[in-house]
Amino acid sequence: MAISLFLRAPMTESSASPAPASNPAAATPLLADDGTALAAFLEEEGEPRYRAGQIRRWIFEKTADSFDEMTNLSVDLRQRLAERFRIHSCSIEEKAGSDDHTRKLLVRLDDGEIIESVLIGEGQRQTACVSTQVGCPVGCPFCASGLDGTRRNLRAHEIVEQILLLEKLAARAGGLTHLVFMGIGEPLLNFENLQKALETLNDEKGLAMAARRITLSTVGPKGKIRRLAEIPLPINLAISLHAPNDALRDRLVPGNAGVEALVDAASRYRKETGRQVTFEYVLLRDVNASAEHARELARLVRGTDAAVNLIPFNPVPGTGFQAPTTAEIHDFRSILERANVAVTIRKRKGRSIDAACGQLRLNRIRNEAGPANA
Ligand code: SAH
Ligand code: SF4
Repeated sequence: MAISLFLRAPMTESSASPAPASNPAAATPLLADDGTALAAFLEEEGEPRYRAGQIRRWIFEKTADSFDEMTNLSVDLRQRLAERFRIHSCSIEEKAGSDDHTRKLLVRLDDGEIIESVLIGEGQRQTACVSTQVGCPVGCPFCASGLDGTRRNLRAHEIVEQILLLEKLAARAGGLTHLVFMGIGEPLLNFENLQKALETLNDEKGLAMAARRITLSTVGPKGKIRRLAEIPLPINLAISLHAPNDALRDRLVPGNAGVEALVDAASRYRKETGRQVTFEYVLLRDVNASAEHARELARLVRGTDAAVNLIPFNPVPGTGFQAPTTAEIHDFRSILERANVAVTIRKRKGRSIDAACGQLRLNRIRNEAGPANA
């Protein structure tokens, strides 16, 4: 489906009433506009309609974040646009770099909330990792994202804006090649906004990103993987399994839909979309990382052609969980391999920048709330 100008605005947002020019912070963000405000403005100004397309190309193809950069528009028009609009609704609050090529952004939203977006550079690959919610309602006990509860869903344009911010950051290294929904939040619990964002990302008039380069990570809330398979945009799927049986998964993933149901959902998704499916498994010392757990996991997933991605726990203070030893990681992997299960180990990245999902945000919001909340 084609996007109108940028995105259809969510029902709750008012994008058609531009703010006074004297207050640029309150000016309408173009990325939140469904095209109506810009079209009205161009008409008022006696400008041809194709200007909207020119502006859109600047924003999506050249990641322009100011009207000044739009050199095929007259200086006068650029000035008038800047009086009425801004481009982004989000701004970069903080950039944290890491020596292993992971760069994390703390992004401030229009209403003051904060989220995280990460750029991971590995050789030719530049992967954007984005958030879909402010906090997370699932609340897995080992994860920083859900520790302080959830505030709200991200709007479609807020998801898209993170990718534009990261695209700009990646430009020097050739631009983004991959996108993963593995930041803060459970993407399938914000389905409509996720779907709208995917349409814009995939659209040739948007970021033109191929579905096969996009991967979504989910705990698999009941019925949602089936729904994802129905959207006309087959993306890769990573299912956060983390346990080989329900007794253990009930503890690690609140609202567990059932391990057998997830394995079935994985096979069905693979069959219906032809896309890659993997099972993510966070290794937690003395919890789910024993040889017996590995054997049970092998039995559970053997019938699927999905690979297992082992993720050594990235310690989050206060959770009480610990990272596995190197020997435990390798033993776990060997048992899966001997059972003919394809397995990879995710590299730890960005330890020096609080890289566990949601950790940087958590530190920031606790600091902002004052020492009593730290
Ligand atoms: N909510 C979705 C996507 C975001 S989390 C999901 O849970 O799948 C992305 C991945 O990071 C998940 O597999 C999650 O279990 C994992 N993760 C979260 N906290 C982690 C930590 N401290 N160390 C390692 N992996 C973690
Ligand atoms: Fe939410 Fe995923 Fe973190 Fe669980 S692991 S709390 S689902 S972000």
